[in-house]
Amino acid sequence: MPIPHIDFRANTQRVSPHLIAATQKSTRTALAKRAQAIEIVGEDQWQALRQAGHDIKLHALTHLDEYLPMVEARVTQAGGVVHWARDDVEARRIVLEIAAQHRVKRIVKSKSMATEEIELNRALQDAGIAVFETDLGEYIVQLAGQRPSHPTAPALHLTKEDIAALFRAKLGVDAPPDPQTLCEIARGKLREEFLSADMGISGGNFLIAETGTLVIVTNEGNGRMCTALPPVHVAIVGIEKVIPDWEGLAVMLKLLARSGTGQKITAYTNLITPGGEEGPREFHLVLLDNGRSRMLQDEIARETLACIRCGACANICPVYNHVGGFAYGAIFLGPIGAIVAPQLLGVKVAGDLPFASSLCGACGDVCPVKIPIPNILLHLRHRVVEGDQFASATVSPILGVGARVGTTALGTPWLYRLGARMMRLFQASFRRGDWLPTLPPPLDRWTMARPFPAFRSDFRAWWRRR
Ligand code: SF4
Repeated sequence: MPIPHIDFRANTQRVSPHLIAATQKSTRTALAKRAQAIEIVGEDQWQALRQAGHDIKLHALTHLDEYLPMVEARVTQAGGVVHWARDDVEARRIVLEIAAQHRVKRIVKSKSMATEEIELNRALQDAGIAVFETDLGEYIVQLAGQRPSHPTAPALHLTKEDIAALFRAKLGVDAPPDPQTLCEIARGKLREEFLSADMGISGGNFLIAETGTLVIVTNEGNGRMCTALPPVHVAIVGIEKVIPDWEGLAVMLKLLARSGTGQKITAYTNLITPGGEEGPREFHLVLLDNGRSRMLQDEIARETLACIRCGACANICPVYNHVGGFAYGAIFLGPIGAIVAPQLLGVKVAGDLPFASSLCGACGDVCPVKIPIPNILLHLRHRVVEGDQFASATVSPILGVGARVGTTALGTPWLYRLGARMMRLFQASFRRGDWLPTLPPPLDRWTMARPFPAFRSDFRAWWRRR
C-alpha cells in the first residue's frame, strides 16, 4: 500500500500535514511524561539538579586540557587504544584503517550523532563495508532511506502504519501495524546482523575521566549488543562528552532520563571500561574535535557543548513542532541544532538556522543543563550578520528586501489589509483544506519541502467577529 508522504525510491522527505501531526503527537506525549517525572522530583530539587548539571558540564568544558589526558591514560592503561581526530576526515580515516586491519565486511552500529556528523556510514559503504543501524528508530529511517527527524526519536515522524508499509516494501514480510509485531520483525532481522558483524561502532553519552569509562545510555538493548558481541568495538565520542567523575554521572543520568523520556532511569546504562573479561577483544576510542575546540573559544556560544542530547528542546519548540526535523537540513535538529550546526558546519551551510526561531524562550526554560539557547541564537545572529570569522557569510539581499517589505506592511494598516485580501485571492486555486501543498515559482522553493499553511481571515476580521 503506498504511503502518501514517503517515497522510498526517491528518498523524499517532504514535510506533510500527516508528518506534522505525527510529530506533534509524539512530542506532546514526551513532554507530558517529562512533566510527570519532574513533578515527582519536586520543582525545587529539579532546579537544583539542573544547576548542578550545568556547573558540572561547564567545569568539564573549561578543563578539557586536564580531563582528556586523564581519559587517554586510563583507557590506555586498561588495554584500549585512544585516537585523536582533529576533524571528520581524520575520524573517518581512523575508523577505515581499523576496519582494514581486521578485514571488516559487516558493521553493526548503535545510534550516534557523532558518526552522523562525520558521515561515517557513507565512507564505510564506499569502502565496500555493509553498515547496519541497530537502534530501532535508526534502523527504520535507514530502511526508508531517510534521515532522522528527532534528536532522540529518529523515526518520530512515522506512524505505525507507515512503518508496517515500509517493512512490507523493504523486508518482504507480512507486517501488520502493530508495534509489538513490528519490533519482533526488526529484532529478528537485527539478531542475524549482530551475530555476523566483524565490528561494532557506537557513540557515547559521557566519558568519565577518573576511570576512563565510556557511558552509553539507551532504551533498547541493541546498543550493548553492538559494543559487546563483535570482536572489535570502536567508539566515536566528541571531546565535550567528558565529565570529571562518577558523582557527576549520577547527576547527569537523573537529568537525561527525566528530561528525555520522563523515566527515572533509562532502561540500559552501559558502563564500558576496557580490559574486562567480557566484551570485545579490542576497544578503540576516537576522541573527535571537529570544530569543538574552536567553539570553546567563544565564551557565549561555548555552552552549546554542554548539551546532553535529551531532545526536550525539540519537543517543546513551536517551530520544530510545525516544520518537523527535516526542515533543519542538518544532522542537528531542533533548537539545539540551530546553535550547534552553524558553529560546527559553518554559517555558509547553516547560517539560516539561528534566524528560524521566534525566541519564545521555551527551549532555554526546558533545558536540563540550563543552556541559554535563546541568548546563543541571538549571539549567532550577530555573528552571521557581522560576517563569521570562519566562513564569510552575508544575509541574502532578497531576505533584506523581504524584511523591509514586511516591516512596511505590518506598520501600515491599509497596506496590511490589502495584502491579506490579495493573499486570500491568490491562494484560492492552490488551496487544499487548510494547506497550500504547491505554489508557483519562486514560492515553490518552500512547498518543495513542506506545505504552506493557508491564509485564513485576517486578525482584524477575526477580532470583529468575536
Ligand atoms: S539543548 Fe538542552 S534541552 Fe536541548 S537536547 Fe541539549 S540538553 Fe536537551
